[in-house]
Amino acid sequence: MRTSDGKQTWAGGRAHPATSRLRIRLARRIRSARTWIALGVLAPIGMLVLSAIMLLDLRQDAWDKAEQTSKNLLQVIERDIARNIEIIDLSLLAVVDNLKAPGVADLDPALRQLVLFDRAATARDMGVMLVLNENGDSIIDSHATPARHVNNADRGYFKLHRARADLGLHISPPVTSRLLGEPVVVLSRRIDKPDGSFGGVVLASLKLSYFSTLFDRIGLGREGGINLYLRDGTRLMRYPFVEADLGANIAGASTFQRFLAERRGSFTGTSVRDGVERYYAFTPVGDLPLILNVALGTREIEAEWRSKATVIGLAVLVLCGLTILLSLLFGRELRRRAAMQAELAQLARTDTLTGLANRRHFEEAFARASRASRRTGRPLSLVVVDADHFKRYNDRYGHAVGDAVLKGLAQGLTASLRRPGDLAARVGGEEFAVLMPETDRDGALRVAEAIHGAATALAVPSAGIEPGSVTVSIGLAVTSAGGVGEDLYRRADAALYEAKEGGRNRTRCAPEETEAGPPGRQSLRLVAP
Ligand code: GH3
Ligand code: MG
Ligand code: MG
Repeated sequence: MRTSDGKQTWAGGRAHPATSRLRIRLARRIRSARTWIALGVLAPIGMLVLSAIMLLDLRQDAWDKAEQTSKNLLQVIERDIARNIEIIDLSLLAVVDNLKAPGVADLDPALRQLVLFDRAATARDMGVMLVLNENGDSIIDSHATPARHVNNADRGYFKLHRARADLGLHISPPVTSRLLGEPVVVLSRRIDKPDGSFGGVVLASLKLSYFSTLFDRIGLGREGGINLYLRDGTRLMRYPFVEADLGANIAGASTFQRFLAERRGSFTGTSVRDGVERYYAFTPVGDLPLILNVALGTREIEAEWRSKATVIGLAVLVLCGLTILLSLLFGRELRRRAAMQAELAQLARTDTLTGLANRRHFEEAFARASRASRRTGRPLSLVVVDADHFKRYNDRYGHAVGDAVLKGLAQGLTASLRRPGDLAARVGGEEFAVLMPETDRDGALRVAEAIHGAATALAVPSAGIEPGSVTVSIGLAVTSAGGVGEDLYRRADAALYEAKEGGRNRTRCAPEETEAGPPGRQSLRLVAP
């Protein structure tokens, strides 16, 4: 801890000097404008980074939600289609099996229809079931006895079953049903004769409206879509519904290639059809040769996040901007205050009339210089300067002229100084002091002479004060090497008194100090100006 005289002291219970130094440094940091500006810039940057991380996290949430939604949708739709087709296939298999049973062929057509097609009623949107003979002619019809006549030998599925015995369940591209007159997908199985040769085809038509109704129930946003493809790339149905797109083959499209290659999964890609970027999730439908995909527009996935991010981002930016601005303003204010304090401190140490150091400044400098002189053993000189008969100037010319003379004397004093370490101060009304560290008596005497010269040269023409009219008396004292130097000011003042007594306009030197203490006034030595 630093006391008023500058000595360091610490005792039990008080802070250790290292701790206090730390505290002082911390306090200085807190008061520093630079610290506040740095804080004011760093804090908002931290805020920005945190917000960015948070926003990225929110974006990830939006994507996670979209992925989960697509997955759920795929699962629901896939199950519905697989289940429905399975029911129809079971009916087809039943027909194939039952046709083999002995006696069925000979049953009454109405009874036979009942035996063959009873389970078919449970499948949703099933159009009609038909048995075609080996020539493609309808021989049994689920909805009419006798069977309505059509020949489907020209249909792709018929030709395929005729050519291959191992085709199993076949799902056709969309066709317009000859009996219903509406678009359907034909599910078919081959009927073998007892000798294994081609005996015809049993088929069930599934109305395309089954798929469109199923897809329509799902809201997917304006850019979303659902597609159902055959494995050969033929589109069976799409949502949103566009009739021209049905039956189209996209086997060559890169997206479809990925559906085929990866079987199940997801990816983000740009649609060749409309240039919109979408998130595609896809899966095969059961064991069927069908591929289902759900697509969500990436813009729509991020739409909610984007509007949130815009609001949060803007708010954070505005707040950061404000914080930076405020800290800059605060920093500027602190700087201004520091400058003002420095100016005030300077003013508090300056004499307003002459601009010289004032008494308080002088006393501080005097204490410092005395300590230094005691420590180093180097001499310290002090001259005390008093204007002679100054009262007369005031009385004769007025206070303003008196002030002008004081200012002139101050300038003369400043001009007489030799070293940067010398200090001239106004210590009383018309009394000045000059402190000269590391200056011996001869050096101080030269300065005193210069002061006499400056005073004599002083003139105030407006008041008719000519050069030579202003004089000063000077008392000089020097601490001697090894001397105590305690009474320096008192000794200089005594010397000044002697100079006044001796007729003014002169310098008197105080005799050198002795270990025994300062001598009396009677031993002051005269030095002529
Ligand atoms: P001596 O030679 O014995 O020093 O006589 P003196 O008249 O200079 O001494 P004295 O102490 O009697 O008078 C000092 C005068 O200085 C009194 C006062 O009117 C004047 N004075 C003190 N301060 C100021 C000031 O700031 N401005 C002006 N104009 N006069 C001042
Ligand atoms: Mg005087
Ligand atoms: Mg005086």
